[in-house]
Amino acid sequence: MFSNYQLDSFKDRTTPFYFYDLNLFRKTLDQINEHGVSKGYHVHYALKANSHPRILNEVIKAGLSADCVSGGEVERAIECGFSPSKIAFAGVGKRDIEIEIGLENNILCFNVESVQELEVINELASKNNQIAKVALRINPNVDANTHKYITTGLKENKFGINEKDLPDIFELFPSLKHIELIGIHFHIGSQIEELEPFKKLCLRANELNEVFENKGYKLTIINVGGGFGINYSSPDSSGIPDFKKFFETFEKHLTLKSHQQLHFELGRSVVGQSGSLITRVLYTKTGIEKNFAIIDAGMTELIRPALYQAKHEIQIISDQSGRTNKQYDIVGPICESSDVFRTDYEIPELKRGDILAIRSCGAYGEVMKSRYNLRHEIGTAFSDEIG
Ligand SMILES: *Cc1c(COP(=O)(O)O)cnc(C)c1O
Repeated sequence: MFSNYQLDSFKDRTTPFYFYDLNLFRKTLDQINEHGVSKGYHVHYALKANSHPRILNEVIKAGLSADCVSGGEVERAIECGFSPSKIAFAGVGKRDIEIEIGLENNILCFNVESVQELEVINELASKNNQIAKVALRINPNVDANTHKYITTGLKENKFGINEKDLPDIFELFPSLKHIELIGIHFHIGSQIEELEPFKKLCLRANELNEVFENKGYKLTIINVGGGFGINYSSPDSSGIPDFKKFFETFEKHLTLKSHQQLHFELGRSVVGQSGSLITRVLYTKTGIEKNFAIIDAGMTELIRPALYQAKHEIQIISDQSGRTNKQYDIVGPICESSDVFRTDYEIPELKRGDILAIRSCGAYGEVMKSRYNLRHEIGTAFSDEIG
């Protein structure tokens, strides 16, 4: 995974820092183009997974569209060079000022999550003398079989419009003169490793597509969201998710009408495996029943383990010759008991100064960092700069 040249350069750097393997990232984007875009699918990259300008530049070069969930992300996408006509704006709580950013830039569409939001967008568009293009985010009530904090498509989630509200919406639409309904949108959750939930989503989407068609709406966009998972336990052997199987699931089970485009919004699967958090062992200590390794990265740099009980592989990347394995709780320096990366984790014996890579951190890693405990800002390195 890491070249000797990279490992050498890591020794002189202040840790912790994020490292991105742009070669792997480009290969991942190639696979998305080969198996998805080549079929005519529109793939939006979900900026919230990682909005670093260097990452966005690669996404733009690969020709993907953008999926934003805040006004700030819409601005970042445009600054970095995405055409506004390729930007979808989702999110359950868009402020008026954020909606205005979308309107001013004439973005592709707003993915609308409530009846009230439709009315607000209509009103703001009317003030600007504009027609806002919208897709309705409908809650398909499909269980993504993933962690409860990252499942989003069940009836009781805060996201999306429930099917029971559709009759009201159909009644309301004729009065919304500044709204053009161009599509329907779904997003059932994240880190979905099985294809079955996506198949179920397709079947629900087909039914809902008919409901709109029968009401006389001509939808051009069917947006099935993102959520495809990555293999956190084998970052080396599964560096690129199986996009062929993923896109084939939709090709097989989703019925599009001749005037319809299929849109996706992928975040984690695009960038997740391309990032690592590089950290040093500060101290080791032997407890009563456990060995602890205290590292210089904490939940402030990578919150996923504390927030979602996520397990990332941790590898020693400095010299480790002749060491036998030992079990550790690998913990960060933050004053919170949840600041734990792994418990009872088997790894060659650790020593102060060892350099470790916490793998599969490209998505929802750096973007979620905080300055809690007044932690110092950390650095970012890209494989292009250091060989
Ligand atoms: C987060 C999110 C995505 C991306 O999800 P991944 O699991 O990273 O692919 C796509 N669409 C919406 C609406 C989202 O909120």
